[in-house]
Amino acid sequence: MTQQREEPCPADSVDSLMAEMPFVDTDIEDEFVMPATSEINIKKKRKRTTGREIGEGSERKKKQKKQYQPNYFVSLPITNPEITGSIQTVQDAIIQKDQRLSKAMVHSGSLHVTMLVMHLSNEEEISIAVGALSDSKDFVEDLLKGKTVDLSFQGIDHFKNEVGFVKLAENDHTTLLTEIAESIKKIFQEKGILAGEGRAFKPHLTFMKLSKSTQLRKQVKKIDSSLYEDFKSHYFGDEVLHRLDLCSMLKKKQPNGYYYCESSIVFGKSHEADLVKEALHRETQALLSGLNQIKELLSSSEIRMKIRKELFEDRHNS
Ligand code: AMP
Repeated sequence: MTQQREEPCPADSVDSLMAEMPFVDTDIEDEFVMPATSEINIKKKRKRTTGREIGEGSERKKKQKKQYQPNYFVSLPITNPEITGSIQTVQDAIIQKDQRLSKAMVHSGSLHVTMLVMHLSNEEEISIAVGALSDSKDFVEDLLKGKTVDLSFQGIDHFKNEVGFVKLAENDHTTLLTEIAESIKKIFQEKGILAGEGRAFKPHLTFMKLSKSTQLRKQVKKIDSSLYEDFKSHYFGDEVLHRLDLCSMLKKKQPNGYYYCESSIVFGKSHEADLVKEALHRETQALLSGLNQIKELLSSSEIRMKIRKELFEDRHNS
């Protein structure tokens, strides 16, 4: 057990720590790709500061920021070709106006809505997070109550002119999505995982960010909003929540451009398909066991005689 799990962080202190982090301001995922099997070798030191150490406080804080930088996240993958295709069109239009920004574009295979970010230090914490995601499934299904979460993507906005994203229409579906994100965050935190951000959950679909390239960041300080003016209120399409993945920010991405996934949970149709499969399996098993019973009966010469006799009498009487 790591020290982290012996002394789980209360939600508030997790939040304040995460709030200070430079997060994904520098996008290490594209610049420092690690092999899928390797661990992130970060030693956690959690000594409390005494008065004597106050002078070293800021240095320690800086170290902590680096140590606990998020390296995993829960992703809601965006796969509707209408959305990914429209985003590609916006990206192409922007690149046409400023070629340098091609380095800022998010690959269509990795488009997602981030539900939760976290820091996982080793394989043990990864397996705890896999368990937390699996536990989340029942909680999410309780929130869904058989309904679907249909997310409608419309319009473009930005974070500090450094991140360009497609907005989600605010309605009952986004309210439900926020409840789901909060419920998942609680489940991860209760397992002692350093998860969540200080800021409120603001679902968005990032299609470009300057932090994807340090070189670009030096050249371009701000994304000019006039570059996507024509798409400011464009409707991109809808995506139904059917899967959540636990993804690595650092491990090598999949050939389709999507993140390396440690595990996934599925809802709705895919889940229904699983249930149908299970039900069919149960029915088949019942039929097979019935057939076996008949076979067993027929293997007895006494029973075979009885059947023959009955058949003979039937024919004789008719
Ligand atoms: P993501 O879409 O999760 O890949 O995030 C893209 C970038 O947007 C990251 O650099 C995040 O730090 C930043 N970001 C995400 N949510 C917010 C927010 N609510 N306010 C400001 N920046 C954010």
